[in-house]
Amino acid sequence: MAINTIGVIGAGQMGSGIAQVCSLAGLDVMLNDVSEGKIEAGLQAARAGFAKLVERGATDAGAVDDALARIKPAADYAAMKNCDLVIEAAVENEEVKRKVLSEVSHALRPEAFLASNTSSISITRLASATDRPERFIGIHFMNPVTKMQLVELIRGIATENETFDAAKTFVTRLGKTFTVSEDFPAFIVNRILLPMINEAIYTLYEGVGSVEAIDTAMKLGANHPMGPLQLADFIGLDTVLSVMQVLHEGLADSKYRPCPLLVKYVEAGWLGRKTQRGFYDYRSGTPVPTR
Ligand code: NAD
Repeated sequence: MAINTIGVIGAGQMGSGIAQVCSLAGLDVMLNDVSEGKIEAGLQAARAGFAKLVERGATDAGAVDDALARIKPAADYAAMKNCDLVIEAAVENEEVKRKVLSEVSHALRPEAFLASNTSSISITRLASATDRPERFIGIHFMNPVTKMQLVELIRGIATENETFDAAKTFVTRLGKTFTVSEDFPAFIVNRILLPMINEAIYTLYEGVGSVEAIDTAMKLGANHPMGPLQLADFIGLDTVLSVMQVLHEGLADSKYRPCPLLVKYVEAGWLGRKTQRGFYDYRSGTPVPTR
């Protein structure tokens, strides 16, 4: 089955990015979120993302105008009835995702594929909330979607070969490279990356170094393009905490215990770049460490 029309649920940093790469590849996109305002914010982020691509010379103005015209707001799931593939990219919360996936599955054609962009939650469990576990798969994009080459594919226990093949073709059409991961908490990239970020937060919590010292140490000492605390702010501290909780609960190993300082930042609503404050304060335009 050819995939030409995509539905994206959640118009945050990932959903907007997924809409951008799909529309640039010539696919039609229906973009949904909890309110018209949130959908418009996602479209606005897409406009800004496209402008940056043109600025960088990655594409031309005509191509981004065409791409933008291919992204349409979807106020409800009924608007997704003609989608060939729907990708759920709502908040990293299993209860929210199960509700979204259960509801949207009933609005789709029986042959449509359904996917989640979850960073950590079991694909098999999410699939069980839908009416089509065999046509459900994890398609995990990296942030920022327009820049990052990798997409992780994760099959649930019931995912059929046809679904897996369709996902591979889809990712290849976007010009991206896929790796395949088994359905274990946080898959491959986040199983390795997020405990490192959590350890950086413990390093800060225990006073081993300041925000600046930790980020500089890892940039210049390990050649990482971003420091771990800068990266945590970029991912979103709510997402970082959710992934650590899934690892901690799913693998029942205390080495994945989320750092109490991370919990405190999330409780304060300091979620990183998206709320203008996290391990850095972005409100003045220049990031200032908060510790
Ligand atoms: P975000 O906070 O930027 O956006 C989440 C969006 O979901 C918000 O716009 C919110 O309004 C919307 N939402 C919440 N409930 C909804 C519902 N019931 N229906 C529709 N939309 C709803 O978060 P994000 O960084 O875009 O993350 C989205 C998903 O992508 C998560 O599962 C996350 O784990 C995953 N992910 C994130 C990253 C990252 O680096 N941030 C990378 C890969 C995957």
